[in-house]
Amino acid sequence: MSPPQTTQFLSGWGRYPTVETQVARPEARSSLRALVETGASSLLARGAGRSYGDASIAADGQTLLTDRLDRMLAFDPDTGVLRAEAGVRLREILAIFVPRGWFLPVTPGTKEVTLGGAVAFDVHGKNHHRDGGFSNFVREIELLTADGTTIRCGPDDQSELFWATVSGAGLTGIITEVELELRPIETAYVAERTIKARDLEEAFRLFDEHEADYPYAVAWLDGLASGACLGRSHLMLGRHARRAQLNDKQRRVPLAYTPDHWARLPFDLPEGLLNEWTISAFNQLYYARQRVRDSRSLSGIDSFFYPLDAISDWNRMYGERGFVQFQCVLPLEQSYDGLVDLLTQVQERGLASFLTVLKRLGPPDGGLLSFPMHGYTLSLDLPRRDGLMPLLDNLHETVVEYGGRVYLAKDAALRPDAFRAMYPRYPEWLEVKRRVDPENRFASAQAARLHIAP
Ligand SMILES: Cc1cc2nc3c(=O)[nH]c(=O)nc-3n(C[C@H](O)[C@H](O)[C@H](O)COP(=O)(O)OP(=O)(O)OC[C@H]3O[C@@H](n4cnc5c(N)ncnc54)[C@H](O)[C@@H]3O)c2cc1C
Repeated sequence: MSPPQTTQFLSGWGRYPTVETQVARPEARSSLRALVETGASSLLARGAGRSYGDASIAADGQTLLTDRLDRMLAFDPDTGVLRAEAGVRLREILAIFVPRGWFLPVTPGTKEVTLGGAVAFDVHGKNHHRDGGFSNFVREIELLTADGTTIRCGPDDQSELFWATVSGAGLTGIITEVELELRPIETAYVAERTIKARDLEEAFRLFDEHEADYPYAVAWLDGLASGACLGRSHLMLGRHARRAQLNDKQRRVPLAYTPDHWARLPFDLPEGLLNEWTISAFNQLYYARQRVRDSRSLSGIDSFFYPLDAISDWNRMYGERGFVQFQCVLPLEQSYDGLVDLLTQVQERGLASFLTVLKRLGPPDGGLLSFPMHGYTLSLDLPRRDGLMPLLDNLHETVVEYGGRVYLAKDAALRPDAFRAMYPRYPEWLEVKRRVDPENRFASAQAARLHIAP
């Protein structure tokens, strides 16, 4: 039986744009299949809605919420291979498997995403320079396709469909199951080292010096520091702590872990509260917080990997108009000049980014529309103010000029020509899409905006 449907206005994590859509929430895979067989001509799976823009909302059709399809199906303690339904959130995997000595092989900066969403954007973590993207650890997926049949595929079996689905933003079908290799850990702690960089040049040098020693590396930048201080930042490095690094108390339960958030933001903050002055004050305090240049500590999993999860609904800080996250990657040789150009453009427009994050990525992954390339990725959270859209157009043009690309999981404003210039494997992807979904049943608002259709 098909589940009831409602009409809702949905948005992504950035709360922009908001799109009217039919919504259904199947309780089991059988009702999901019934919806595909008999439902609307246009469909799209939605996970936890943690992509920022309009990628998780159906274009003119039915958005299928997958959060009830969240059963763990099998786990092999010898190999660490987990099979689970695609609506399982990373938070649930951590809650069950960290105390048993297993961690996610790759994790984004929030644990509130689903397995389906992680595969659909082939997400990357702070260890991309060492381990590549999420898809490197996916052994198999089950995909429900446009004609209601299910297909199992993986890197060695029906690999074209697999690599088009990994990073395919839900447009090849609905992922119903994921088989993922977890990573063994001895403790639930991270040995962390934080080093201050005076400017972008020093930040790059520190990434160079330390990327071989630390599996995890990320820098938080003061996006408003300019001139000689442009790019001043804190580089955070980490590796899973060994048992021997814990104190006596910690060693008694080295894998103790309960994922949680500490607070809620129960209402929207007034518009304009996040402005150039408040953001600048926050960044200066943050930079001054650590007095010594180089500090070491032992952190918990949540504080190292998921600091933003501490306040659930933190996106409400941006008020009702929301915000856009601009995330790009530039090829290694172009990264320094390109990032100076991008940061300067944002500063000259007087638009401040509250959170500015810099990471170094490794070689590209196999997904035909995967985001990473060898180089630096910069992300900026920009409140939606007058002048933002023209600025984003300019930033996108600059990214194309430097040979880089914008991350579709964050995008809410890219144009079709820029998308095609940034994703050279799109024609290969489109061939698979045409084969598996000839009537373009799986369509998102983002795909309609970018003219991604057969
Ligand atoms: C605070 C924060 C930090 C983040 N940090 C990172 C980071 O470090 N690295 C990174 O790579 N990303 C990061 N992201 C982005 C996030 O990891 C991705 O957008 C991810 O895809 C969100 O998963 P979701 O379950 O919320 O999917 P949704 O946002 O609901 O959907 C995302 C896409 O996946 C598709 N999809 C979802 N479920 C299925 C399914 N079952 N079958 C087929 N398609 C499906 C949707 O159609 C859509 O196209 C971050 C997001 C936030 C909010």
